[in-house]
This record gives sequence, C-alpha cells and structure tokens, in this order.
Amino acid sequence: MIAQPEASHFVNGAYLEDAEGPQIDVIYPADGRSVATLHGATPDVVERALRTAQAALPAWRAMTGTERGRILRRAADIIRDRNRALSELETLDTGKPLQETLVADAASGADALEYFGGLAGTLTGEHIPLGGDFAYTIREPLGVCVGIGAWNYPTQIACWKAAPALACGNVMIFKPSEQTPLGALKLAAILTEAGLPRGVFNVVQGRGDVGAALVTDPRVNKVSLTGSVPTGRKVYAAAAAGMKHVTMELGGKSPLIIFDDADLDDAVSAAINGNFYSSGQICSNGTRVFVHRAIKEAFLQRLADRVSNAVIGDPMDEATNFGPMVSEAQTAIVLGYIAKGQAEGARLVTGGTRLDRPGCFIAPTVFADVTDGMTIAREEIFGPVLSVLDFDDEADVIARANATDFGLAGAVFTRDLTRAHRVVAALEAGTCWINTYNLTPVEMPFGGVKASGVGRENAKAAVDHYTQLKTVYVGMGPVDAPF
Ligand code: NDP
Repeated sequence: MIAQPEASHFVNGAYLEDAEGPQIDVIYPADGRSVATLHGATPDVVERALRTAQAALPAWRAMTGTERGRILRRAADIIRDRNRALSELETLDTGKPLQETLVADAASGADALEYFGGLAGTLTGEHIPLGGDFAYTIREPLGVCVGIGAWNYPTQIACWKAAPALACGNVMIFKPSEQTPLGALKLAAILTEAGLPRGVFNVVQGRGDVGAALVTDPRVNKVSLTGSVPTGRKVYAAAAAGMKHVTMELGGKSPLIIFDDADLDDAVSAAINGNFYSSGQICSNGTRVFVHRAIKEAFLQRLADRVSNAVIGDPMDEATNFGPMVSEAQTAIVLGYIAKGQAEGARLVTGGTRLDRPGCFIAPTVFADVTDGMTIAREEIFGPVLSVLDFDDEADVIARANATDFGLAGAVFTRDLTRAHRVVAALEAGTCWINTYNLTPVEMPFGGVKASGVGRENAKAAVDHYTQLKTVYVGMGPVDAPF
C-alpha cells in the first residue's frame, strides 16, 4: 500500500518538488508503515506559490461566476467518479475506516464544490434607492487566501475552504497538516483537470513554520484555519498584525444533553456518533454527555452493550467501523487523558486501554460519574473518550453546559418540543442539533462561538467570509455646498 504522490507540492497548475525541504514521512497509523515520503516547502516553494497565486488572481476574478462555478462542479463530478480511490487514499492518510471515508470525506468535499459551484453565478451586490440618488454595492473577492488544515478531515477541510474561496473569485494556497498531506494534492490535480486556471489553487506542504510564513506574508488577504485553539490564537494574532480577514474553525468540548423523556436508543446512537466516529477525532464531538439521573444507568447499560459491538480492525476492510488514532503522538495524548480520568475518580465503564495489536488503536472508552471539574470534562481530548455527567435540572444543566471557554457545538435529546428549542436557544454554541448529532451538510452554516472560532464555513454564510463589499454612491442631481 503505497500512496506516493508525483511530488510534494502543487503550484502553478503542476506538481512541484524541492527535495531541499525537510522530509515528511506519511505513516499509515493502522500498522505504522510509511506510505509516502514528502518534503516540506522551502522558502523558494512558498515564494513561488505566493507569486503564482497573485498572478492568477486578476483573470480568475474577472471570469463570470457561472464560468467559475462550472469548473468547480466539474471537479465535484470527477471526485464522485473516483470516490473509491480517493477514499482509500484518505484511509491511508488518516487511518479512518474505509466504511467512513467512502461516505464522509471526498463525498462531502464534492458536495461543497457542487454547492458553491452552483452559488457562484448568483453572487451579487445590491441596489439601494436613495430618493433620486442611489447607491449600489459590489461584492468583491478578498484576493489571495491561505487555507490551513487539521489532520482529521484532510480532503473535506481542503474542499470546505477551496470551494467558497474559489467560487467568490479568490485564489488559494492551502497547507495541509503535515500528518495528512495527500488528499489536498489530489484535489489540486482534479481541479486542474476540471479546467481550473494555473495558480488559482496551490498546495504547499510543511509544518507550522510554513503556515506561519504564509499567514504573515503581506500579499495574503485572508486566512482560514482549521485547528486547535492554541494554534488559532497564534494564527489569528499574526493575521491581525496584517489586518487580514480570518476564519477560525477550532476545537470544542461540546455538551450533548439527554433528558429523561428522550428516545433512549436514538440518544445512545447520537452519543456513539458524537464520540466514536473517526475514533473521536472530530472537533464538534459531544464529549460531555449530560444524562438525566433518572435514565443514567439504563443509558450506560445500552451504551456499553452497543460499544461492545464495534468492529475494530483493518481500516481497509469495509466491515471495520472503528479505526486507529491518526498518530503515535495523538495516541499518547489520549492515553494520558484516560489515565487522568481514572486518577481523578471517574468510573471506567468500558475501554480505557491501548489494544494489543500493531497500530495506534485505543478501545472506545466510556467514563461515568464524571464531574465538571475533572480534566476529561474540561479539555478537548480528540480521541474515543466519552464522559457521562449526571444532571437533574434543566437550568442547572444549561449553566454547566455553558461553563466552558469552548462554544463549537451542542445538542439536546428530548421529546418535549418547547424544551428542545428553549435549551438550544440558551446554549452558547455555534452549531446545535435537536434529536440528532454531528450532521453537517454543506447547506448549513458551521462554526463556533467563544474560543471555538470566528466566522462560518459552508452555506451562504461562507460567502460573507470570502468577499467584501465596495459601496458606490451615485449622485444624480446638482451638488449642494455650504459656500
Ligand atoms: P493544530 O492546531 O496543531 O494544527 C492545525 C494546522 O495549523 C496544521 O496544519 C498545523 O501545521 C498548522 N500550524 C501550526 N502552527 C501554526 C502557526 N504558528 N502558523 C500557521 N499554521 C500553523 O491542529 P491539529 O492538526 O492537531 O488538529 C486538531 C485540532 O483541530 C483539534 O483541536 C480540533 O478541535 C481542531 N479541529 C477543528 C475543527 C473545526 O472545524 N472547528 C475541525 C477539525 C479539527 P502542522 O500540523 O504541520 O504543525
């Protein structure tokens, strides 16, 4: 299983290599084997990407939205045609089971390209009547955008950033996480095949230093980061120094609140989806599962039964529905949190151990009797660790759910219609669900509040984050002056 790309970077419509850059080994976390060797970008590669992007901007922004959109929609079709190969690559890149990558990664990327491809021709300013005079607005692209991705959804993140940016007439330089560099290169090649002009979408590899070089360059007008809160703070500050636009999609510690009238099986399904999909490496996961005390033991029993049915193993086997962590480093972080949970007195219901097999496998882990002050209830773990906290009272659980710096997502399970809406209205979170969890279709804005982020991805809302308005006042009569 080798996934070696033609070269490390994709700049000016073609693969580009510069072996002077630091070596990046792409490790398949299911067995620890190296599946590709790349090089991080040298300053020369970064410079070439910036120059080529800047040069490509005038012609790309001058095209009609319909023309731009057609290219994006063509790319969506190519991605769908090659979904299996792209999904296998995503599995090698991340370790996520093929059962997931076949439906969740390239497929959601294609959705974004199709959606924003369709939207591109509809982007307009507005006409503002002012008596005889009038004003109008022109919706302009921002210019050169930098996208920086995390390692959990490399292809989806690249598409969620590229599709709206390009639809709005911007050009982009994308830097994937150095742990998962492969998917974005394929996206660049497919966009080129679909007719994207050279230089409109470029991929450069590297660690944080390459990201930092891009973010601080004065030619860059916008930065969109998906990553952790600490990295977000650094990147936001660097972008602010240059007065650049930002979108920050950062981490979370989201509450999933289950009332005693909820459909128990649905609530258990949501807790599983919101904690164990992608082995828990999802920013919006509902990792604080608040369960009403009256149903807590029944919930835990069903949850433990269902978790014991997880098919853990070779991610390339389509029967597998639970795979490894992305890396040894992330495995160590998650095991550290599990140890802290036990040391601080949480009750381990199931899991809690590294599996005795090659690869970065941690058993799906459930803790009960978790209290608000415990480390596992406060910090983002980014692994398959579900914490159950008890509650009795609606007002109390809302206050506890909000008692965090994070504000990415939240959910409520109840059959009481008014309570459902009352609770989500009170949650300090950017994205909420009622009686379901973690569904993020492209038609719906996605993003966080508080430390979890700034701006929104997807939906029409993303257009506001990849364009700016020029206002034009048109005088139709004589010009009055005081003297
Ligand atoms: P990191 O924050 O470590 O890294 C994110 C990206 O930023 C990587 O490409 C990284 O490069 C790059 N980077 C690091 N330092 C800098 C810098 N100073 N300037 C510019 N770029 C920099 O996140 P992870 O990759 O570890 O991803 C996990 C995190 O992402 C979790 O906290 C999770 O919550 C969050 N996330 C948020 C999502 C959301 O939409 N809200 C979705 C998915 C994940 P490199 O990795 O090469 O060092």
